[in-house]
Amino acid sequence: MYLAAVLLILQAPSLDRAEQRIRNTIGAAREAQIGYLQRVVDIPSSTLNLEGVRKVGAVFRASLDSLGFTTSWVAVPDAVGRAGHLVAEHHGKPGSVRLLLIGHLDTVVEPAGASFVREDSSARGIGAADMKVILYALKALQAAGALRDLNITIVFTGDEEHPGEPLADARRALVEAAQHSDVALAFEAGNRSDATVARRGTSAWRVIATGRPAHSAGVFGDAAGYDIDSRGEPEPIDAVGDAIPLG
Ligand SMILES: [Zn+2]
Repeated sequence: MYLAAVLLILQAPSLDRAEQRIRNTIGAAREAQIGYLQRVVDIPSSTLNLEGVRKVGAVFRASLDSLGFTTSWVAVPDAVGRAGHLVAEHHGKPGSVRLLLIGHLDTVVEPAGASFVREDSSARGIGAADMKVILYALKALQAAGALRDLNITIVFTGDEEHPGEPLADARRALVEAAQHSDVALAFEAGNRSDATVARRGTSAWRVIATGRPAHSAGVFGDAAGYDIDSRGEPEPIDAVGDAIPLG
């Protein structure tokens, strides 16, 4: 019995006091988090509903202001045709790691009326699991006294899957934030047990190939003389999200 108790102690996760406080704050705020989530999910905010996306941004902005962040609404040029982005900065200990937290405000598609539905122990809604947990994570860090020293930039984009053109204008705020950060965490929902620690992207290439015509049986022989022209230019790269789950 004694041995069993010792083993249990050894196997218990060893959270330090700040981590315990973070965990307890999150647990105690369960209903508040769900209420907040419902409030923002029920704001119709598909990507092209610019007014709705800005409304969600205003809710998040007020929350981040209350946590001591310096917030700004970064508009995109009218020609881009999107709502813009919410950018928030928290200055902590000089010289320490600079974190970039990425989320998005838009729900991509539009719900028909109120979206958030709770059934028993689960809930569903358009965009309900979509990168909206950052705020309560930050509140828990603040409650544990762990937010004060952190250097954090948050970019909530307003155009997750469907940015306007030109892309350089649509993504400027995010790119600039990345350029002055050391680590980026994207809060896109994955599954419950994995964290993603690497980045996946796509790039399209225009490849110029030259060769001599030859009989099909010999296309891979020397006679055909295929050659890839190294002057082929890459098309613009468009990152599509994260990969490599770590269990
Ligand atoms: Zn998303």
